[in-house]
Amino acid sequence: MNVTFACSHCGKPNRLAISPESTNLICDHCGASTPAPADAWSDAKLQRCLACHCDDLFVRKDFPQRLGIALVVIGFVGFLVSHYYYEKVLAFGFLFGTAAIDVLLYLVMGEAVVCYRCDAHYRGLDDSESRAGFDLETHERYRQIEARKKQNQPARPVASGPADDLTA
Ligand SMILES: [Zn+2]
Ligand SMILES: [Zn+2]
Repeated sequence: MNVTFACSHCGKPNRLAISPESTNLICDHCGASTPAPADAWSDAKLQRCLACHCDDLFVRKDFPQRLGIALVVIGFVGFLVSHYYYEKVLAFGFLFGTAAIDVLLYLVMGEAVVCYRCDAHYRGLDDSESRAGFDLETHERYRQIEARKKQNQPARPVASGPADDLTA
């Protein structure tokens, strides 16, 4: 099992091996230690994000998005170029060939458990069937909390209002 997360101290991406015995995440870049929540695991199932302690997690296909987009672009450009040269068979070969590779990749890719709040990716947990998929409403809730936090940071002094309740 491993986790990919952005260090809360220096912001740099990390990929660390984890297990239910992991008590903290130590950043490879700055050495900052993030203590894992005590109730992070129950019955060897991850319940809370080790990086930000959020308990809203979802499962999704671990599909490299850039590769997916690259394939679509290659297919489209290949189609246009061969269409321009009246190579009809080649043109549709590009279009359907890249689409087929896309589908194949999607089928063979594993799954990742993702944290709504900090976008940490957990790979190698073999409990994805028992987890909920992506929920736009939950995502939107966390996105708005983040946006409000950014808006409030420069304008409002810390003491002037109630702190944002991030766990709400
Ligand atoms: Zn760091
Ligand atoms: Zn998180």
